[in-house]
Amino acid sequence: MLHRNKLPAGIDSKPVHILQEFLGGIVTTTGIIEIPLNTAAPQAGLVDVLSARVRRLIAPNGGPFTFTGTCTYLVGTRKLVVIDPGPEDAEHLARLLAAIGDAEVSAIMVTHTHRDHAPLARALAQATGAPIIGCGPHVPARALALGETSTMEGSNDLAHQPARILADGDGLACEDFELVAIATPGHTMNHLAFALPQERALFSGDHVMAWSTSIVAPPDGAMGPYMASLAKMLTRDDLVYWPGHGGALTEPQRFVRALITHRRQRETSILGQLRQGNATIPAIVAAIYSGLDPRLKGAAALSVYAHMEDLVARGKAACEGPPLLTASYRAL
Ligand SMILES: [Zn+2]
Repeated sequence: MLHRNKLPAGIDSKPVHILQEFLGGIVTTTGIIEIPLNTAAPQAGLVDVLSARVRRLIAPNGGPFTFTGTCTYLVGTRKLVVIDPGPEDAEHLARLLAAIGDAEVSAIMVTHTHRDHAPLARALAQATGAPIIGCGPHVPARALALGETSTMEGSNDLAHQPARILADGDGLACEDFELVAIATPGHTMNHLAFALPQERALFSGDHVMAWSTSIVAPPDGAMGPYMASLAKMLTRDDLVYWPGHGGALTEPQRFVRALITHRRQRETSILGQLRQGNATIPAIVAAIYSGLDPRLKGAAALSVYAHMEDLVARGKAACEGPPLLTASYRAL
């Protein structure tokens, strides 16, 4: 398991409690702060009313990386904005159109171009006549190195071509509300969150989710921008996040602070492993993710890889040649 909600045996509950109060996390035997996850599992196929303006329909694409499925949000009453239509799935499209009913769809907004979020935008645009706006086409964080293949090749919706790309701070007014794009690169480089100031809510996409940490996988994603996008969240005063998967995040700043601490501690433990002579990414994964669900091993390796790339860029680690998934690293 990546995240334990129970205290491991042998940990004194008192200091843990104090740390929990302080950082919003739980200390494990490896000393890494755990994130105060909300693992409430909203069910696919049902329309949930979340506020006077916001409804949610979850796509039937549940799995180890998507939790119970992608959250599609419908914002508005008579005039709607649909956020993240989801994967190409006829059943989800039919349910979405039923939830839209007689309302007019003003825009279809997409947070990022992963295939579990973006592709259905095209069928929905065809069915409703609404324009696709929001994030730009897929773009990796860096070019591939010689002989390198992309780790996330099949994950991207390469056909995504929005009618309008929103930059940081660009807004869309609709009915009695507006949605404002917040550039949040890291998980993908084109990632946007959408703020709904009238409810002090933020549709956080896959940047910040309540059920799990986000995958940051080079060369499409990058740790440096991801950490900067987390810090950016702390400058805001949102009351609730509505993420791309899973339920609400109701104390977002506290949660984001725990995420930042968690990643910094992960980085420290990776540097510690390098100093102990564990030079490869598989060796480090085996050392720091004990008891990991085997299905998540690849994701853990990509996460360590993202840290490694960032450490090399910051001059804290080095390797021969480019920092690849298969390289040997050393601490500086
Ligand atoms: Zn994603």
